[in-house]
Amino acid sequence: MIDAQRPAPPQGGFSARRLIGIDDLSDGDVDYILRLAEYYAGYLRRSAPAPARLRGKTQINLFFEDSTRTNLSFELAGKRLGADVINVPVSASSVHKGESLVDTAQTMAAMGADVMIVRAKEEGLHEALDARLDCAVVNGGAGAREHPTQALLDAATARSAFGGLEGRIVAICGDVRHSRVAGSNARLLRRLGAEVRFVGPARLAPPDDQFTDIERFDTLKDGLAGADIVMGLRMQFERMGAEFGETTGEALRDEESSRRYFREFGLTHETLRYAAPHAKVMHPGPMNRGVEIDGALADDPDRSLVLRQVFYGVATRMAALDALLAGDAD
Ligand code: ASP
Repeated sequence: MIDAQRPAPPQGGFSARRLIGIDDLSDGDVDYILRLAEYYAGYLRRSAPAPARLRGKTQINLFFEDSTRTNLSFELAGKRLGADVINVPVSASSVHKGESLVDTAQTMAAMGADVMIVRAKEEGLHEALDARLDCAVVNGGAGAREHPTQALLDAATARSAFGGLEGRIVAICGDVRHSRVAGSNARLLRRLGAEVRFVGPARLAPPDDQFTDIERFDTLKDGLAGADIVMGLRMQFERMGAEFGETTGEALRDEESSRRYFREFGLTHETLRYAAPHAKVMHPGPMNRGVEIDGALADDPDRSLVLRQVFYGVATRMAALDALLAGDAD
């Protein structure tokens, strides 16, 4: 059945065959996923069953790193489109018997996967899998490098609040250095016409040779000036290692340092006054209330888009899976 509201694919068709980084997507692909996300958001808002575009397809979720939102959201997205979705319980898998991650994934794929959603701290793993597997590889988080569906869902959320990103100022705040969310958003949101800034302590900014054309600020006052969207990030202690000297992670982890960090870089109703009067706050979760964001701001429905991001997570992942896997199927 033809659905009149369903957005048309990009001219020449959807081009991506995998989704490991934002640059796997053409501008037409991005636009299609965002329009399709809005279309699926309509079904989710009405609690209406979506077309079973992935019936007969098998989706395997292979998360080698912790995940709550992303794993669940991919699972729901696949199920809402009629796919068979399998979650691999990695902590009980043969990885703990010494099997390599590639061998584990290859074994899963041999059972007949059409798509594998992979999260891992190893940054080259997704490319290695893409070279070896016949199924589509989708990145559910790669080390500190990329989390493309998070950026897509953030863009879909921002579009729903502001109509578009062209000319909007987005301040990405906090531990940018260790954040794959920051990396993917910086790549995507600029392609959509936004001005992106990084805001936070200098030692949590990306290395000098990365994102050289993005302006960095080390105070909220300057970095938030005029911003439409203020995106908070968690302190990602799990990725702070030798590069910082072993003390940085530890130094930031104790209570007194958290309090100090909050005083200087915490997103609150008060610090949000530096931004544009209509500014909204976003956060990919999980949030550490009282460290990078105040609970009262995170919970304020007039200022916070945090739960809307979670909602768009399902719709956007439905869109991405559909675009990658369903082709022109009715
Ligand atoms: N959930 C996001 C990620 O997986 C952000 C975070 O963990 O802080 O990267």
